[in-house]
Amino acid sequence: MPDISDISRLSINLATVRERYKITEALDAVARHGIPAVAPWRDQIAQIGLKATRQHIHKLGLKVSGVCRGGMFPARDKAGFAANLADNARALEEAIELEADCLVLVVGGMPEGSRDLQGARQQVQDGIAWLVEKAKPSGTRIAIEPLHPMYCADRSVVNTMAQALDICDAVGGTVGVACDVYHVWWDPNLREQIARAGASRLHAFHICDWLRNTKDLLLDRGMMGDGVIDIRQIRTWVEAEGYVKFHEVEIFSKDDWWKRDIDDVLATCIQRHRDCC
Ligand code: ZN
Repeated sequence: MPDISDISRLSINLATVRERYKITEALDAVARHGIPAVAPWRDQIAQIGLKATRQHIHKLGLKVSGVCRGGMFPARDKAGFAANLADNARALEEAIELEADCLVLVVGGMPEGSRDLQGARQQVQDGIAWLVEKAKPSGTRIAIEPLHPMYCADRSVVNTMAQALDICDAVGGTVGVACDVYHVWWDPNLREQIARAGASRLHAFHICDWLRNTKDLLLDRGMMGDGVIDIRQIRTWVEAEGYVKFHEVEIFSKDDWWKRDIDDVLATCIQRHRDCC
């Protein structure tokens, strides 16, 4: 069995160091620690522009495990939906330019003032079908990231792996899932849904931990090993399907990890990835 906790599998989602560091500082630090891959957010790319981001990543020899993010499809009216599609086309261009393993989708919640959950879910499926068609010439993988149900109103009406895979089944093409342990660890059907996805539809694997005493549902994610998730178990299920891509550390932590020095954060990511994942 290969050493799957090797640093060669590690990627840093740049949200993990977003508060104190510009994208160039973050990329330099990741490379300095010998970590082979990153996942930038679009607002971070915008700090220096797409071309400069691409050049900096190439110069450092980093790979891109994903671009965050596309999605946010549901809108109140047709014009709003069309605008959301246009934004997704731009996100796709960024993923193509950076040769990312995938474009991650946070699909969007309920439009302001709406109680039409089924309608929102239909818009999500229609939007993904449109985007997957758009991604065909480049072959770019589109990764639906199901979000924990607590985000259903404002961020994602897709809340389980099963629901995401139902959309994948309906749409086909290069669409698959981003399996983020923070969102799916509680799901009693997780193992069977990972198997249902299979290697061809497991596009990304995101790691962090769920703190028993979570203080903020968005911005208090834990470092691997500090919470309740059996990350190694989930990783084993994912790898058993033949997943060979990156383990991407994604930690939103406004009162803890975001306040720390980047070298401290990255050294801890390397150590915890080795010991707890
Ligand atoms: Zn994630």
